[in-house]
Amino acid sequence: MTPQEELRALLQETAEHLRYYQELGITNFGEIFIPQDLPAVTAEATRPMTQAVSEPLPIPPKEIETMPETKNTVPDSFSLFGETAPLAPEQQVSDDSLEKIRADLGDCQRCKLWKTRTNIVFGEGNAKADLMFIGEAPGADEDASGRPFVGRAGQLLTKMIEAINFKREDVYIANILKSRPPDNRNPEADETKSCIPFLFRQIAVIRPKLIVTLGNPATQGLLETKVGITKLRGEFQDYPRFPGIKVLPTFHPAYLLRSPDKKREAWEDLKKVRAFLQGGA
Ligand code: SF4
Repeated sequence: MTPQEELRALLQETAEHLRYYQELGITNFGEIFIPQDLPAVTAEATRPMTQAVSEPLPIPPKEIETMPETKNTVPDSFSLFGETAPLAPEQQVSDDSLEKIRADLGDCQRCKLWKTRTNIVFGEGNAKADLMFIGEAPGADEDASGRPFVGRAGQLLTKMIEAINFKREDVYIANILKSRPPDNRNPEADETKSCIPFLFRQIAVIRPKLIVTLGNPATQGLLETKVGITKLRGEFQDYPRFPGIKVLPTFHPAYLLRSPDKKREAWEDLKKVRAFLQGGA
């Protein structure tokens, strides 16, 4: 990459970063203000800052080239639910589809959470998505609406998705649990064991290239590990249950709302997501 190209890439990345913070509602960094009319991050948006450039600007750099090698820090020997087979029987439904999975779920009473939920939150989005986001469980807004990630945290997730140039409808969003735990407590092992086979079937049908897990319970539940998110965050994980699908753990948007200082790390993770999908396209 020439110095000119490096400068262009740096300017473009900086503009994207500022736009991400702007979309999160952060416009004041002490003496630094982000203009409200920050243009969309496009080649044209960065062109005025690089007046010497006359040729078309390149697609954003493929950070896949500098991405660290995949690390699988999940111990092979540990299985949270006592299942070690690569594919659980629930996954092996011939001619499976999201419609069939929803029908099989029915008015589910497989764990105790059915007693307190209002609506099952099955998941939504593109049935052929390359990218899935998986959280731990529905909250109050999701329980009321039957849709995943529609509350404040969901709005932030939508902004995070848009910050990497996707639309919400491009991706698929689901949770480990499909019923809300009382008081938004973490999923319990028996609940996860009852519910997660349906998520596995959803993953098997959608076959995304990348799953982003949001927060500790979702990461530990999906990867069937006790390793915490502080160790796994931002590192691509192999997913033995679904060979060929990568998992990238990051912070839950609700945590980012409580800890805005973590948004910078989340942005680094999002850039890896974008680079991975560009590189794998
Ligand atoms: S959490 Fe899952 S297994 Fe439990 S009742 Fe709801 S849908 Fe059924």
